[in-house]
Amino acid sequence: MSDSISFLPSYKDQPTKSAEYLRQALPLMTRNKISTDPTNYAIWYEYVAGQNGALKEAIDEMIEKKTPFDSKTSEALYKKYICNDSIESFENVRNNLLKLLGKTQQDVSKAGETASDASGQFSEKTKLLEDADDISDIKSIVSEIIAETTHLTEASQSLKQELDKTNSEIDTLRSELEVVREASITDALTGLLNRRAFDNELNNIIEVAEVYPQGVVLLMMDLDHFKRVNDNFGHLVGDKVLRYTSALMKQHVEDNHLVARYGGEEMAVIMPDTSHDKAVKIANKIRIALEKSRLQRKDNGESIGEITISIGAAKLQPSDTIDTLIGRADDCLYKAKETGRNRVIDDSQL
Ligand code: GH3
Ligand code: MG
Ligand code: MG
Repeated sequence: MSDSISFLPSYKDQPTKSAEYLRQALPLMTRNKISTDPTNYAIWYEYVAGQNGALKEAIDEMIEKKTPFDSKTSEALYKKYICNDSIESFENVRNNLLKLLGKTQQDVSKAGETASDASGQFSEKTKLLEDADDISDIKSIVSEIIAETTHLTEASQSLKQELDKTNSEIDTLRSELEVVREASITDALTGLLNRRAFDNELNNIIEVAEVYPQGVVLLMMDLDHFKRVNDNFGHLVGDKVLRYTSALMKQHVEDNHLVARYGGEEMAVIMPDTSHDKAVKIANKIRIALEKSRLQRKDNGESIGEITISIGAAKLQPSDTIDTLIGRADDCLYKAKETGRNRVIDDSQL
């Protein structure tokens, strides 16, 4: 063994601690623009380990005074605060590095494919360390380890960046998907469910109808003499009346009710788990609320006149298909029109 052994530091830290010190030391060294050579690594390892009070004070003072960490000051720090003449040091540092490598190897294998190359390198270095019996060997192995670790840190940082990027891309895609999904089921003019969504929902609800103890009711509604609104006030005003009516419907239905634009100025409400009486009550509330609305043109305050709606209500029967249910609700609506409009007719009145 050569004399240079006496320059080796003595480490007795647990491998998990050593790995932690390594993780803390490297960014500190980067921040203070310190080259990652074995001497510096030993200095900064000791610094973060915090047991070498004198060294810590000396470095803190240097940081405060912004004294540059050139190779001369590094050597001075090393000689003054770290080197000792213990013969055990050689064994200690080697064991410590072996443990540290073992731990880092574990971390690396977790980091996946990219890092597995580095893991191989560490195994190689471990082997070399096991065989090393000379300080200069160890120094050069440590240099290589540091280079490898720095490389690994960079690799895992870019891996993390990649993962972050991928995650945010996934988030963006997820919200875009949500927007598209929302658009695909929504009627653009009224914001109600569109016809396709209505068909889907009604089919699904009919399929599981037995789970609703109160039954299912379908309302079909159609604005009365709506052509006149368009003719007298223009299509844009007609659109606004459609939007207004839609909002009013939403206000009056229950949370589990599904309001859809069936087509043109016809709307529908699917009412799962709703009694016949309750459905008719809600239908009348909508009808009366609309009748009472005194709609005016925003631009000149001109009254649009009374807007009314006719409503048909059909209760789902066990033998019903989607077509027979809609057909019956339509029959009720037709009867409401025939008997004077602005009324609710249910299928017990057919
Ligand atoms: P009824 O009481 O018998 O239902 O009379 P109506 O005038 O409402 O019935 P008709 O079916 O003859 O006319 C429906 C009108 O609804 C004609 C059409 O221009 C209008 N309409 C349908 N969709 C829209 C729309 O999206 N916007 C506007 N402004 N009008 C629409
Ligand atoms: Mg109409
Ligand atoms: Mg119509």
